[in-house]
Amino acid sequence: MIPVVKTIDEIRNAVKTAKKQGKIIGFVPTMGFLHEGHKSLIVRAASENDYVVVSDFVNPTQFGPNEDFESYPRDIEKDRALCTEAGADIIFNPEPDEMYCDPLTTVSVDKITKTLCGASRPIHFDGVATVVSKLFNIVAPDRAYFGQKDAQQLIVIKKMVKDLNFDIEIVGCPIIREEDGLAKSSRNTYLNEAERKAALCLSRALNKGRSMIEMGEKSAKTVKKAITDEINREPLSRIDYVEISDLETLQPTDSTNGVLVAVAVYIGKTRFIDNFIIERVDE
Ligand code: AMP
Repeated sequence: MIPVVKTIDEIRNAVKTAKKQGKIIGFVPTMGFLHEGHKSLIVRAASENDYVVVSDFVNPTQFGPNEDFESYPRDIEKDRALCTEAGADIIFNPEPDEMYCDPLTTVSVDKITKTLCGASRPIHFDGVATVVSKLFNIVAPDRAYFGQKDAQQLIVIKKMVKDLNFDIEIVGCPIIREEDGLAKSSRNTYLNEAERKAALCLSRALNKGRSMIEMGEKSAKTVKKAITDEINREPLSRIDYVEISDLETLQPTDSTNGVLVAVAVYIGKTRFIDNFIIERVDE
């Protein structure tokens, strides 16, 4: 089993030693309770780097006051087994006190954090940008791996890295799904049997939207309505947003070319997100 370290000094020393040996460092930041989605990032990082660090930290500052920070699932020993199998070299699993000591500094990315998840989670992306900056400074990796599952997060991190000149390559990885289409998530464990079935409305509705665009639909409004109607057919669902946004600005658009099609839906008390991307083609 690979080591789990709790302090910034320990992880820094481990990475320094690896770098002295000429190793290229890959980094996968996570909140733990790892599943096949996280594993795909770690496997990819292990195939492209010599030394892979996984951080396993439920970051309190990215949760709103009425969100699930306290109840977020945690199982470091299971995570350790998964990381070992996936080819990681070390896990950084700090306590909140190790990461935060009365900070006065926040990293805040403007505009692209105000729409989509940022509209209903106003402090979320400040929390994410700040903790990822801290982790980048602590781990100092060559490459860092993020899932397309959190599409807005990936776009925000790429912009932050560009704006702040972090010398780190950001690698986006595809969404890993259950066999029936539900995107893998640590929060899927919150669902009872009926909710688990209901949660399929996200991927079902997005598949419908994607088919429409692939068949030539050019109106974002029409696609949005079809996705919304499909989700609303599920009685246990409550839509937070259904949005078609420009891939760069993350502002709503009327086009279906170069877009992020994203949904956030409550199933019972739990909020789930899913999305797909239509790359821009010159017309
Ligand atoms: P989290 O532990 O939820 O903060 O996720 C850590 C990283 O794993 C993020 O970059 C996520 O986008 C990524 N991730 C989570 N679920 C999936 C999934 N189903 N497929 C691909 N990547 C994922």
